[in-house]
Amino acid sequence: MPLIELENVEKVYQMDGLEVPALRGVTLTIDPGEFVAIMGPSGSGKSTCMNILGCLDRPTAGTYRLEGVDVTTLHDTALARLRNRRFGFVFQSYNLLPRTPAVENVELPMVYAGVTDRRPRALAALDAVGLRARARHLPTQLSGGEQQRVTFARAIVMSPAIVLADEPTGNLDSTAAGEIMSLMERLSHQGMTIVLVTHDAEIAAHARRLVQFRDGRIVRDEPLRRRPERVGGPAG
Ligand code: ADP
Repeated sequence: MPLIELENVEKVYQMDGLEVPALRGVTLTIDPGEFVAIMGPSGSGKSTCMNILGCLDRPTAGTYRLEGVDVTTLHDTALARLRNRRFGFVFQSYNLLPRTPAVENVELPMVYAGVTDRRPRALAALDAVGLRARARHLPTQLSGGEQQRVTFARAIVMSPAIVLADEPTGNLDSTAAGEIMSLMERLSHQGMTIVLVTHDAEIAAHARRLVQFRDGRIVRDEPLRRRPERVGGPAG
């Protein structure tokens, strides 16, 4: 069964009495374990699509089935529960609580879900992103790349079905961005489903499938070949 099925999804925003079409009939199927990059010019509907995928917003028309369930019929509480249990979110800005140690930031989704054995699970998630030794550090005591790795730990700590990452490397230098992409590849190898929005073709090249948006529609959807190993020779 596909993990995600969007069928003819439309989204129209109302602004000052005007209708702003953001998605104009998007059909997209994502299977478990896929690593999908979404690209497209600014205003083409990428964020709107991610918000709908993550159940942060509802389509104006069309259907969205998640693991076979039509989520457009769910009430807000059921939707919130689904968001908490089945999705991990990573944004360009890290959205960490600044006066709260890394490990407690990672525990937050488990607090909302009422999970009791939080500390060992949070430490295991920090271990998975290579930051076990920084568990007691405050976000301000971590580099940008490390903070983003903490948000990945927070995103995966509930063992979600899918991680949605919107420009996760947007604020990072190329070294830190490279570390984040290695981390995403590792999660993907472990079977995590990942959808990544980026404007950077080099970043997108780490994914296994590229979906291109334009004017609220998908204009390209194709598999990406695994990048050849660079054996000697100049990079690029
Ligand atoms: P992208 O992420 O590709 O830059 P968006 O999904 O943010 O594109 O936006 C798609 C279109 O929808 C744009 O024309 C944008 O101005 C419009 N839009 C996005 N969010 C809103 C909103 N909350 N209210 C009104 N219009 C919006």
